[in-house]
Amino acid sequence: PEVPVGSLLAGAATRYGDRTAFQHGDQKLSFTQLWESACRFANALLDRGVGKGDTVALHLPNCLAFPIAYYGTLLAGATFSPANPLLPPGDLAAQLADCEAKAAVTFGPVAAALAGTGVELVIVVQPTDEGQLDFQDFVATAEQAAPRVDIDVDNLAHLAYTGGTTGRSKGVRIPHRNVVVNTLQYACWGSGAVPVLDADGNPTLDQIGSEDEWPVRLGTGIGINLTPWFHAMGTIGGLNVSVVSGGTVVIHDRFDPQSYVADAQRLRVTSMSGAPALFAALLACEDFHKADLSSVRAITSGAAPMPHEMIKALQRLVPEAVIAEGYGLTEVTMGATLSPSWRSGTRKVGSVGVPIFDTEVKIMPAEGGDEELAANTPGEVCVRGPQVMLGYHNRQEETAAVLVDGWLHTGDVGVIDDDGYLSIVDRKKDMLIYKGYNVYPRELEELLMALPQVASAAVVGRKTVETGELPVAFVVRAPGHDEATAEQLLDAVNSQVVPYKRLRELHFVDTIPVSAAGKVLKRELRAQLT
Ligand code: ATP
Repeated sequence: PEVPVGSLLAGAATRYGDRTAFQHGDQKLSFTQLWESACRFANALLDRGVGKGDTVALHLPNCLAFPIAYYGTLLAGATFSPANPLLPPGDLAAQLADCEAKAAVTFGPVAAALAGTGVELVIVVQPTDEGQLDFQDFVATAEQAAPRVDIDVDNLAHLAYTGGTTGRSKGVRIPHRNVVVNTLQYACWGSGAVPVLDADGNPTLDQIGSEDEWPVRLGTGIGINLTPWFHAMGTIGGLNVSVVSGGTVVIHDRFDPQSYVADAQRLRVTSMSGAPALFAALLACEDFHKADLSSVRAITSGAAPMPHEMIKALQRLVPEAVIAEGYGLTEVTMGATLSPSWRSGTRKVGSVGVPIFDTEVKIMPAEGGDEELAANTPGEVCVRGPQVMLGYHNRQEETAAVLVDGWLHTGDVGVIDDDGYLSIVDRKKDMLIYKGYNVYPRELEELLMALPQVASAAVVGRKTVETGELPVAFVVRAPGHDEATAEQLLDAVNSQVVPYKRLRELHFVDTIPVSAAGKVLKRELRAQLT
């Protein structure tokens, strides 16, 4: 669809008007209010000389100001660059310098981190000092008319940073076209709709098929959002897909399983979405098992592998819901695949589904080579489609290494089965090589997590000179299993695998470190082994 991102919100405001788009505590923002405030924010930026070609960093937690500043930035023709509000000051300064942010929106309690970064215009949500430019005043004093900026779909919309799970975060260049396409690719999923353009070129969603077949009807969904909007899954899934679908997003400041469950029941939420870490915490909460979750139609997960046991446990608790797993990375705007959504669609436990429309996925030899691999053979996952990034920001060599003839080489190892379903085996960087054999930690993690004594587990390699990397497990015991010993668990896993894959050590820990986006931080575990 050849329209800029702002058109998605314009269309949603027309379609859903006074319906609540976002809710935070008692405060609500309707679709109309969001559109009007975003236009004001855009005009306020333009009044101060921030527009096309400029970058606006959003250094914010999820809050009502976020969607206003996000759409406002894009309506002004500027580029949105999200920054984790908990980034240490040095990393934040480096990121803002890398994206050359001209303006930033920050949050009172963390605003000090912007001092000395050279950003010209700093707008503060909930200011803590009198001299700070208050976000509310900034928005309120500007004109409300839709800004007239000529925005091309090839203009840069997002300069988003990768999670930094495996190394230094890289800036990813995403134009308006990609954001609109990837949003519609996923919005179609739950609502049984296909995107079409109306006479003015605005995307609209037309319902197809029998409504009963689809988990969520357009304009009726409600969900609690915990995915950070500074991450691709939050920006596209949490913000844009909800807006296009007319869903109501309830913001929780911090994750507390009990209040999540209480709100899910009280509000009769229709969808639950997040990284597997969210569902792990919910499954560990007693209230979740007793709750009435009959309103839940869809459970979607992404960003990290969902353990097979978790899918089965969720399905037992919410038998009516469609459980789906998606796969993606910042370099494809958000995502490339998803499990089929319709109730009669085949879902395969352990698979991240099939490519979304207009998207191709192929498997290439992980060690390099030009021959595409056959079905059921693991190799590097490669993606081609309209959502693939333009390239990394200021990193030509790294771009050339991953973007080859329009195909993005993802750095993930995966396998496609005979029916075209993709499963992610592991990250290439996490693969261990023991005596020349490839060992995928995820296989061992799945076996550990299938044991009743294990709540969560992660496997990393201990480097040795003689043999390569030895698999070492970190395990959180399940409640009531304090007596479980390392020997028991090692035996239970090692009796199921060929000798070269055997776990050599097992350490019990209280928690497994995860990033804000819900990814296990294996480098922190590796550091514990030295
Ligand atoms: P960096 O590239 O800086 O190390 P990162 O890989 O965490 O950071 P993101 O773009 O946030 O950056 O994450 C994308 C990665 O998340 C994918 O490459 C993949 O390894 C993992 N991932 C996403 N969804 C899934 C899934 N459903 N199953 C398994 N892994 C997933």
